[in-house]
Amino acid sequence: MKTEFLLKAVDAVSQSLMTHESEIESLDRALGDGDHFINIKRGITAIVAMREELAPLPVDVAIQRIGMKLLSTIGGASGPLFASFFIAMAKTLKAQPDGDLEVISNAFSDGVEAIKQRGKSGLGEKTMLDVLIPVAETFSEQVSQKAEFPTLLQAIKASAEAGMLSTKDMLATKGRAAFLGERAIGHIDAGAKSTQVMIHAVCDLLAIEE
Ligand code: ADP
Ligand code: MG
Repeated sequence: MKTEFLLKAVDAVSQSLMTHESEIESLDRALGDGDHFINIKRGITAIVAMREELAPLPVDVAIQRIGMKLLSTIGGASGPLFASFFIAMAKTLKAQPDGDLEVISNAFSDGVEAIKQRGKSGLGEKTMLDVLIPVAETFSEQVSQKAEFPTLLQAIKASAEAGMLSTKDMLATKGRAAFLGERAIGHIDAGAKSTQVMIHAVCDLLAIEE
């Protein structure tokens, strides 16, 4: 992965999040305290503004800087969780700087693992991890099956979508939504939605870059 692609991905994610503003905001209003969109907007805006600083850096260093920036800009539960994803991903990429898709897939899985540890959470708790865990699995399955790149992208998008939708009928056991008990049922988790939007944006970018 090149830093040039990373910067394009940042812009694509930023644009896509902005078009989903009201949807993400209303989801966190239903289940949380309504600030999830504001939190991620603060994060992505800060990263878009880092373009000049990031452009000359090796991709692992740039991703590490993104993680550190998210830690200091996004508040709430989601800030340290997203930050730990990028910091762990950077660590794996640093160890294998010229890595292929398999290395990127491993780095993604290590990022997801870091969120699980930081959040003390796992699958089925109505969080962003209900998108990230299946996506990490799909990603590594597709890589090990040596799937065609467009097939891999479609499978990842489908997995993100299914994971996001799966949160609708779950009880929440982590985060603010856990206080709602049965009342959380029927609402998609805001963090799952924002994560799915980001993954789709990166996949759509990769589809046209190829
Ligand atoms: P806060 O909950 O502090 O208001 P945000 O609104 O920014 O923070 O983020 C809420 C999102 O964070 C939730 O929708 C959920 O996806 C995710 N989340 C919260 N706690 C955890 C956790 N322990 N593990 C994984 N994800 C979590
Ligand atoms: Mg919130």
